[in-house]
Amino acid sequence: SRTYAVTGSASGIGQATAALLRRRGHRVIGVDVRSGDVVADLSTPHGREEAVEGVLDEAGGRLDGVVANAGLALPTAATVAVNHFGTVALLEGLRPALVCSRAPRAVATSSMATLLPVHAPLVDACLAGDEDLALAIAVELEARGPEAGAVLYPSSKRALSRWVRREAPTPRWAGCGIPLNAVAPGIVRTPMVADLIATEQGRDALAGVVPMPLHGYLEAEQVAALLAWLVSEENTHVCGQTVYVDGGCDVVLRGDDV
Ligand code: NAD
Repeated sequence: SRTYAVTGSASGIGQATAALLRRRGHRVIGVDVRSGDVVADLSTPHGREEAVEGVLDEAGGRLDGVVANAGLALPTAATVAVNHFGTVALLEGLRPALVCSRAPRAVATSSMATLLPVHAPLVDACLAGDEDLALAIAVELEARGPEAGAVLYPSSKRALSRWVRREAPTPRWAGCGIPLNAVAPGIVRTPMVADLIATEQGRDALAGVVPMPLHGYLEAEQVAALLAWLVSEENTHVCGQTVYVDGGCDVVLRGDDV
């Protein structure tokens, strides 16, 4: 049996992933701002430190896998803080514990929203690791209202997928035998999108930007199955990928651009 840390474990995809891994006989240390084995707020540097220390304490210093999944989808600066900086800090903070495993694995939850329009200077600030600048840009976009703020979520996820792609082949990850990847779900029936998909108007608006020709919306368990495989011992060579689990959204939007 393996020991995993799963963030965002109190709801949706994180909750389903923790449950699946536990059903398979593994130990899961759940991290969330609401409730969990470790309660910490990944939107702040202090909260991220608490999360890392809490997991290391619970795990006794050795982890086999990290599922960095916690996220926010609000048109606010906090979305950038949690989705990019919180995810990166958690992965970097727990990496030393992964190095102690015989078959370490790491995965982040990105989104099909990586394919939507982004704010390029914000993505660059994230990738430069400049949280002060990124949050200053984000606060300014947020202040312009929800329409301008809508770019924050795609920007945070584009930065995250790009960070995974840049980091994965380096001595820090591939060089230590750690496959690092991301998943990019289409629309998943979780509390994050419950209000939006509850109305016909919301569903129509979504269908215009998120085409999902195969099987429609996902259940959280269907994303959990892919996350669980990416952090399993079976995954030996998938490296730096963002795996779209989106009912065809990526192939419709990007076409031949493989
Ligand atoms: P959810 O809202 O059900 O769960 C997200 C969890 O993250 C919650 O338990 C929440 O408390 C936690 N969280 C939020 N902010 C946090 C913080 N500051 N510190 C610690 N924990 C925090 O949503 P979900 O759909 O399960 O989302 C999981 C991941 O999947 C997110 O990264 C999200 O962006 C991504 N995603 C979701 C969808 C979708 O359609 N639901 C699509 C693509 C990607």
